[in-house]
Amino acid sequence: MNENCCAPEAGDCAPAPGTQAPPTPSDHCPACGQKGQKVDSLTVKAMLSVSLKAVRDTTYRFCRTADCEVVYFAGEGRQTFTRAQMREAVYQKEPHNPEVLVCYCFRHSPASIKAELLRTGCSTVVEQINTGIKAGQCACDIRNPQGSCCLGNVSQLVKRLEQEAKEAA
Ligand SMILES: [Zn+2]
Repeated sequence: MNENCCAPEAGDCAPAPGTQAPPTPSDHCPACGQKGQKVDSLTVKAMLSVSLKAVRDTTYRFCRTADCEVVYFAGEGRQTFTRAQMREAVYQKEPHNPEVLVCYCFRHSPASIKAELLRTGCSTVVEQINTGIKAGQCACDIRNPQGSCCLGNVSQLVKRLEQEAKEAA
């Protein structure tokens, strides 16, 4: 009779076994309404500064909207983790902070990329990251808040900084 002694207490965090989450709108951020990209729960666990007791066995999504405080959300928005609960500043949330990391594995920031651009006239950051990836040195799933490779963000940022440098010249 005590086979359930270790089961979690019933509540909104314990979905009935065998039930499937409805397809929408659980993939949209409850704060800004934008669609969030699925992230592995390992990423959430690696990024949180709060106790991992709060992490549930569910699908978490990443909100990339710059002016939205929510970083991860789950369960039709009933659970959210905000910027203040992260161990790292989140690039997508601070696009104008020169010191925020854009590449979390090799620690490149807008400021460091811009410094190279000003010094040499071109950026080698994408090549540097690719070299690191080939050498097996990257760990985007546990270091980058978006849980995936930073190269798309880095290339976009390099283009923007090159444009700004041209306009300033
Ligand atoms: Zn949001």
